[in-house]
Amino acid sequence: ESVIVAIDGPSGTGKSSTSKAVAAELGLSYLDTGAQYRAITWWMISNGIDTTDAAAIASASGKPVIESGTDPAAPTITVDGADASGPIRTQEVTAKVSAVSAVPEVRSRITELQRSIAAAAEKGIVVEGRDIGTTVLPDADLKIFLTASPEARAARRSGELKGKEAADLATTREALIKRDAADSSRKTSPLAKADDAVEVDTSDLTLAQVIECVVTLVEE
Ligand code: C5P
Repeated sequence: ESVIVAIDGPSGTGKSSTSKAVAAELGLSYLDTGAQYRAITWWMISNGIDTTDAAAIASASGKPVIESGTDPAAPTITVDGADASGPIRTQEVTAKVSAVSAVPEVRSRITELQRSIAAAAEKGIVVEGRDIGTTVLPDADLKIFLTASPEARAARRSGELKGKEAADLATTREALIKRDAADSSRKTSPLAKADDAVEVDTSDLTLAQVIECVVTLVEE
């Protein structure tokens, strides 16, 4: 039978690394839902749509074709057939993704996509995001909510940024707090812990420890 694992939480908690490793270890598919919201944001920017104009975003939201490859060893994301894995990680996309993903038409479209990908995963899937346990897959077999202190999160995040995109710790921390506040306060499916989710504080845990903790919970 297939198993569905929902992993939610803010950025910098080790969500992606944990989700990929758990999926690989258990032979499950993997879906990065943040990458999908980043992809639609990138398409809006590339097509000259003002990302502060919710009406313009809503009316264009059905246009881009977004496809996610769900192999945890090599996840992929394409927009209209083009590889988007690089462009979706720029600071411009990161700064604008909260506004785009707050538009209800964007959420309903991406949520539908996520549900169809989860339903097609034969052995099961690990889905990471902000609203997976609360909204996208409320019947998931296991729900995890990852947290970490602001210091631990900012340090991890700035470690991920490379080369000319690298910002100092204070700037990274500020951008992160701003994005969390926007993600937590939007009206449609805000970032939130589901009532039946298991909360794991990763501040003082190594990645290996977090992975082991989640794998154990899945196997229980
Ligand atoms: O996980 P990541 O930081 O790549 O997500 C980027 C953004 O996508 C989040 O800050 C949030 O605005 C949006 N997102 C969302 N719902 C999800 C996953 C991501 O709104 N399930």
